[in-house]
Amino acid sequence: MSPIATIVVLIAMDAEAQPLIASLNLEEQKDCFMTRRAPMKCYGGVAARGARVFVVTNGTCAKHNVCNVGTVGAAIAAYDALVTLNPDVVVNAGTAGGFAKRGGAVGDVYLASTFRNFDRRIPIPRYDAYGVGEYEAIKTPNLQRELKCKIGVVCTGNSLDATETCRAALDAHEASVKEMEAAAIAHVAHLFGVPFIAVKTITDIVDGPVATQEEFLANLGTAATALKDVVPKIIDFVAGKELNEL
Ligand code: SAH
Repeated sequence: MSPIATIVVLIAMDAEAQPLIASLNLEEQKDCFMTRRAPMKCYGGVAARGARVFVVTNGTCAKHNVCNVGTVGAAIAAYDALVTLNPDVVVNAGTAGGFAKRGGAVGDVYLASTFRNFDRRIPIPRYDAYGVGEYEAIKTPNLQRELKCKIGVVCTGNSLDATETCRAALDAHEASVKEMEAAAIAHVAHLFGVPFIAVKTITDIVDGPVATQEEFLANLGTAATALKDVVPKIIDFVAGKELNEL
């Protein structure tokens, strides 16, 4: 094993990433291989102990003029970042829905224990488990102690809202966190054998009284600020360490 020298942080939306990019003083990598041929944006700089850090956002869909949120944008960004930047560890940071029934509240910070797709049902032997697509985050007991944040199952689907069917599936998967990218990135990280961590800040409560989109938009700024606070702590902790020290 060798010390972690390159860290890639994948963030779906520019609005989620901007406070972090500014506070880390990262520079846009306009000429990097990735951003020349795909919509993603890449920002780079130097972290503690000389490690290189890159923040990659999913960029904008030219047709709809909104961020490429969801699993397709996340998988493409993850693939391209892994191939282009060859990181020692990948971190997915973003906003997410939480669950009051599991003690979640707006503003909470969660580290992911594991990732599951809650809306991929393939009722054929072995494909059923592949559909759920559970891939675990690497074990980070020391980082968890350092951050003192919550730990939970992150469930991914391609909808911001949740129908009754979604809610039943989220319960069955014991979701503490609901979002739209992490399980896709976990799959790509698994394909490439790259260690994966995710941190999510809660913008809205899935089982609360306020409509998700309303609560999401009201709390996006606060949650992006929370990412600006927590992600540098993660980068600082992992930079230069061996995986088994995390
Ligand atoms: N209306 C928003 C759309 C963002 S989509 C806009 O202003 O552009 C939601 C993004 O936030 C996704 O990247 C997703 O991962 C995350 N997210 C936050 N809360 C979520 C929830 N309750 N369910 C699913 N995704 C959520």
